[in-house]
Amino acid sequence: MPTEDPVSSLDDLPDGDRIRSRKQAGDIVTIVADASGLSTDERSALEARLKRAALDIPGVREARIALTATKPDRTIIAVGSGKGGVGKSTLTANLAVAMARMGKRVGLIDADIYGPSQPTLLNAHDKPRAEKEKLFPTETPYGVRLLSVGQLVSAGTALAWRGPMATGALTQLIDADWGDAEIILVDLPPGTGDVQLSLVQKARPQGAVIVSTPQDLSLIDATRAIDLFGKTSVPVLGIVENMAGYQCPHCGGTSDPFGLGGAEASAAKLGVPFLGRLPLSSSLREASDAGKPPAAEEGPAADAFTSIAREILAQLEKVGG
Ligand code: ADP
Repeated sequence: MPTEDPVSSLDDLPDGDRIRSRKQAGDIVTIVADASGLSTDERSALEARLKRAALDIPGVREARIALTATKPDRTIIAVGSGKGGVGKSTLTANLAVAMARMGKRVGLIDADIYGPSQPTLLNAHDKPRAEKEKLFPTETPYGVRLLSVGQLVSAGTALAWRGPMATGALTQLIDADWGDAEIILVDLPPGTGDVQLSLVQKARPQGAVIVSTPQDLSLIDATRAIDLFGKTSVPVLGIVENMAGYQCPHCGGTSDPFGLGGAEASAAKLGVPFLGRLPLSSSLREASDAGKPPAAEEGPAADAFTSIAREILAQLEKVGG
């Protein structure tokens, strides 16, 4: 009569879905577990839990734990900001378009429950298709696949969401059928509170980009955003400075109503990479409102987005994402 393999009880652990193989030879148990997406501390904790569980099995004297981490076939990049109105959503949309133009297969998750604006920015107003509880992202005219909380609930509903509701919605968006998308940008709600924290924990991004304007106040907020990602062990890929300098549509001259270079200086101070800057430009705002991201056209704005997108991908390589 077959007896039940005692190490099979390991599969019932909360970490059971990470176990790739487990075997017992005499009084030694060997476990191979997948630690993808975990920080160093989380890896150690996983290893300790597995070891304890194995040693709890009667007759086991030694537990050998091997952790592996597969390079994720899909890279998630979170885009955050310490406060609203700094151009985070505008940047996310254009960076996604720039990456798509660079030949990447790109998806975008609009998790900004306070103001989901990606359907407008990317001119994609169709509801996503759902099959057996699985969502299928909407194709935008710019080669970027999109899912937005704004497509799931009516305007204003998501606003009242607290952490669990917001993370529930994000799970649905992340678990959607993203097909062969290799990069997914997540437009987070502005701010650094509990909702943002739980969303970052849920998305487990490989890296984060922070958007800031040059003003001091905004930079203090950017610093908080860096702390938020630090708390969750998500590498900060860098800061983008938006609305840096004003480009006069009439004379073409630039002035610096909010100061210039503040974000770059504080990036240096904080030891995070500076990814690039974009001027305050009325044409960028008008194009965004009209659902025509400048990154999809030719010109200096498109070049700036492409250069920032390149920089992000280069930083991502460095952190192994
Ligand atoms: P956030 O996501 O940070 O709240 P948005 O991307 O929604 O910010 O941008 C807020 C407003 O600022 C929008 O009207 C947008 O068109 C405008 N905006 C963003 N970046 C720029 C820029 N560089 N120049 C001019 N307007 C901008």
